[in-house]
Amino acid sequence: MIINKNILIDSHSHINFEGYDESIEQIVNNAIKNGVEELWDIGTNLESSKKSISISKKYPQIKSFVGIDPEVFVPGSDFFLGFDKNDTWIELMFNELSNLIEENKDYVVGIGESGLDHYWFRDKSKEEQEKSANLQEKLFRMHLELANKYNLPLSIHSREAEELCLEIVKKYEVAGIFHSFTGNYQTAKGILDAGWGLGVNGIVTFKNAFELREVYKKLLNGKKLGQPIDFYNSGIFFETDSPFLSPERRRGEQNEPANVKLIYDHFVGIL
Ligand SMILES: [Zn+2]
Repeated sequence: MIINKNILIDSHSHINFEGYDESIEQIVNNAIKNGVEELWDIGTNLESSKKSISISKKYPQIKSFVGIDPEVFVPGSDFFLGFDKNDTWIELMFNELSNLIEENKDYVVGIGESGLDHYWFRDKSKEEQEKSANLQEKLFRMHLELANKYNLPLSIHSREAEELCLEIVKKYEVAGIFHSFTGNYQTAKGILDAGWGLGVNGIVTFKNAFELREVYKKLLNGKKLGQPIDFYNSGIFFETDSPFLSPERRRGEQNEPANVKLIYDHFVGIL
């Protein structure tokens, strides 16, 4: 995925989540102070996607992604909507998201988050796993069609399903970022080779993330990278996933886009 901007971008955050309502101006200012000049705010359902657009209309630094999180089909998740949702509902969502994009072309810069989440399957019955996997894949493919229709990048949420996600995205002429990537070297290489990007966040700064740091060292071995754009051109994108996943030196605090600077500096330091 190509971005021709040599600025620090938080490529995955949830500024539209409730906890930020009072402090959006503050977090935008903090980000700018830290050289983080663009904030991609990711929708997780129809409502949050709409909210993201209204926020991006107030702050030129904030750009919107619209989409439905795969956890809507994960029993036990806060987002779970039930298995009675079907093809009709998915089609309805496609139309709703299409309308949102059509009406807000200057504000919507991407689709997501969308993808597959098999992390939660561990303690679920075989039947639930199958239902969930099936609906998640249909919803994911709907987003890929949407990204294709509007020629927009996709922010992928993939947990314990990276290989399957990659297999699916290869069937579409779409690009984007595997946000919060924590998979192995082989998968990471496959993602980059397919023209997709990897999202690096606070996890890379955690003391126990030794293996993940090794994956990136190996991927970028020998490359001379200095500016943000060098990383983007190599398929590496930085993100906070705010309000989650505060980096090592900010653990216990609510994460915010300004911390992309910390993550970027840390990452440059490990190469
Ligand atoms: Zn997210």
